[in-house]
Amino acid sequence: MKPHESTRIAVVGAGVIGTMTAWQLAERGFSVTVFEQWNTPNDRGASAGESRIFRTVYKEGAEYVPLLQKSRDQWDRLQRGARGAQILEMCGGLTIGRPEEPDVAAVIACAESAGLEHRVLDAETMAREYPQFRLDDDEVGVLDPAAGVFRPELAVLAARDAGMRAGAEYRTYARVLNIRPQSFGVMVDTAAGAEAFDTVVLASGPWANELSGLGREVLAPRRLVAGWFPAGDVELHRPARMPISIRRHPEGGFSCFPVLDGMAVKILPHHLPWQDLETVGQLPRFVEPELVQAAERAVARLMPGLDPTAIRISTWTEGFTADGAPVVGPSPEDERILLAVGMSGQGFKFSPMVGSILADYAEHGASADAVSVMDSLRWSRSAAGGERA
Ligand SMILES: Cc1cc2nc3c(=O)[nH]c(=O)nc-3n(C[C@H](O)[C@H](O)[C@H](O)COP(=O)(O)OP(=O)(O)OC[C@H]3O[C@@H](n4cnc5c(N)ncnc54)[C@H](O)[C@@H]3O)c2cc1C
Repeated sequence: MKPHESTRIAVVGAGVIGTMTAWQLAERGFSVTVFEQWNTPNDRGASAGESRIFRTVYKEGAEYVPLLQKSRDQWDRLQRGARGAQILEMCGGLTIGRPEEPDVAAVIACAESAGLEHRVLDAETMAREYPQFRLDDDEVGVLDPAAGVFRPELAVLAARDAGMRAGAEYRTYARVLNIRPQSFGVMVDTAAGAEAFDTVVLASGPWANELSGLGREVLAPRRLVAGWFPAGDVELHRPARMPISIRRHPEGGFSCFPVLDGMAVKILPHHLPWQDLETVGQLPRFVEPELVQAAERAVARLMPGLDPTAIRISTWTEGFTADGAPVVGPSPEDERILLAVGMSGQGFKFSPMVGSILADYAEHGASADAVSVMDSLRWSRSAAGGERA
């Protein structure tokens, strides 16, 4: 008998967070059932779209670094068990802009405080080593050698398969309608009926405010837009020669992904508004022409090897929290419900460790890897503090 076989855990949502969590839980011997409203992987949630960035020198703060380093080990472990396809290619990463630009200053500060390998390259060196990017004379590129690019659909597939090999059961096209804590267990309602579990993990991505109990002021879906721009010299723009990058410039801010489809570089604009959505179902497929033109102007100005014509545009959703940090840990409503939501545009890279942290909670009620900025009780704590004051 497996160590926790009699403990039944439901995972709601099978994007990258749900599949990684199911894998980690099943490996520790829990009896795991995953509910997904479609199949997995699918392209309607936040875990698809050809590419994702892995970074270790982290502008969001050095406190994430141990989580990122441990995630890298988990990604390697997942890769070893996967069917041949390369999930994460370590092509390095660049943050580009003036040194005083907040995100550029933040990566340098993170590298220095965490003692991480990095190089600060001036504009001349960048032109020589990375001609894919056009820099102004006063700009620099900060190189993170421990960065890379994911193929997200393959990653989710690999996590699903690893979980199933460890015993997780997947129920696809099974939408969870309600999660109801009772004295004897937590009920999960679907069209097929109600079922009791000891613990329920909510990993429903941009849909999370439907079942999490967190209000819109804390957690809301937003629209992100990606555009693909054809490369003149495709070889120069493949991961073997082009790192992933984050660009900060008065005329454009974006993340940029090397060619994975054989022809085009993906650009995800940051300087254009990320529209709030009432519900995920309202995600518009068509994008305002002004927004596309603004992205094309930024590419024309900053990416000399690309044709500044967006040959493909797609829209995506993600759940964002009010403070931009994920929510990982017990629900304020009931500690038998574990939340892994509000990944706020960051969640792919550390998803295996989010799964591991939740497995720690399920096993021990706490996790030594938990990161304080992701504390799931932070709003309820501050509300309680506010009442006392
Ligand atoms: C365009 C874009 C670019 C990004 N770039 C990066 C990047 O470069 N690096 C990085 O680390 N992160 C990045 N992120 C963030 C990262 O991709 C997300 O944080 C991560 O994919 C979130 O995964 P998830 O499993 O929480 O959500 P999802 O992938 O959306 O999974 C949630 C799943 O839950 C299912 N579901 C919802 N409600 C129910 C229900 N009631 N019953 C059953 N199933 C349900 C959905 O169908 C879905 O499959 C990016 C995000 C986007 C959108």
